[in-house]
Amino acid sequence: MTLADYGWNEALALVFAPHAMAGLEPARVVCELRRNFYAVQTEAGEVLAECGGGFFHIAKKSDQFPAVGDWVGVKKRGGEPRADLHVVLPRKTKFSRRASGSEEIEQIVAANIDTVFLVSGLDQNFNPKRIQRFLVAAKESGAEAVVLLNKSDVCDNAEDVRKEIQVLVPGVPVHITSTLTRKGLKALAATYVQPGRTLAFIGSSGVGKSSLINALVCDEALPTGEVREKDSKGRHTTTRRELVIAPSGALVIDTPGMRELQLWGVEDGVEDAFADIKALALQCRFTNCGHTNEPGCAVQAALKSGGLVAQRFESYRKLKAEKVAATPALKKPSALASKPGWNKKNEGTKPFRHRFHSDD
Ligand code: GDP
Ligand code: ZN
Repeated sequence: MTLADYGWNEALALVFAPHAMAGLEPARVVCELRRNFYAVQTEAGEVLAECGGGFFHIAKKSDQFPAVGDWVGVKKRGGEPRADLHVVLPRKTKFSRRASGSEEIEQIVAANIDTVFLVSGLDQNFNPKRIQRFLVAAKESGAEAVVLLNKSDVCDNAEDVRKEIQVLVPGVPVHITSTLTRKGLKALAATYVQPGRTLAFIGSSGVGKSSLINALVCDEALPTGEVREKDSKGRHTTTRRELVIAPSGALVIDTPGMRELQLWGVEDGVEDAFADIKALALQCRFTNCGHTNEPGCAVQAALKSGGLVAQRFESYRKLKAEKVAATPALKKPSALASKPGWNKKNEGTKPFRHRFHSDD
């Protein structure tokens, strides 16, 4: 594997030139292991890269920290498969989640995705509004958006549905697919699946994202590359790679955060009305904080200090619970179950995924 296989090109090399002069080497983030700690691909193979003190000196906001897909500059430590991460190159595209509040906080979910496929299942009553929300997210990201209406084999008016959707999203390609009959796959692969191009698939659980990745991009099981590192006790642990090269040469970013994009729209209404609470929640130590008795919970801290009125938090809770109950299909996407975060097991250890760095 060379870095070109990961999408490195002359334009990037030009941007990177000053960092190369400063003794750094280019790499692409393939996985975030835990806070400030990443698996990155360099020309000479994979290394574990850490954001050290020098990095914090420059990066002040959470969106300045690396995300899966980012191009970064690292300096290897002699002899070890380890490196210090010094710089993140400007992103061509980025998916982020944002909280409006006193200050805008942006959390990068994935970077440098060229094409994002918004997948819906033709077997379900799907929601045109949700498709439009996806497209807003895609537009903001800068990535090319493509709508896939999958499972055409279980729908006898697929073309009618396609036309209906097409009217809603003028200018955006809308394709019918079936991973079962392989309808539409060949043409799609020819247009979008190319070596060095970075793809992502978003959409509700069960619509066929994994099947499409396998059928469209890989034509065999997605290589489940693993990242190995030693934990604090010296034991080897493995983590799933979140950016992988398919046999076709295309790159696929598949992270819980990207799959979770589906939930944003659903919660937007509630979250917008409670922007203050959302901003607080972003400062909680754990991304899946339930704001009850988790360590480092910013919401509980604000309740204690009086910065947040208990009644307001209660109504937020109630409204949110109602929303979840009203959308049973989205209640528990499987990808969420594997999301790293706070639980009894890692209590007291460092959180996996940073959110906000005010405590550094
Ligand atoms: P994901 O949760 O979006 O990754 O969805 P999966 O790829 O795991 O697919 C969910 C289910 O739908 C699986 O049982 C698949 O076999 C099935 N499936 C995927 N694509 C198709 C399709 O084109 N037609 C039909 N009938 N079933 C499909
Ligand atoms: Zn909390």
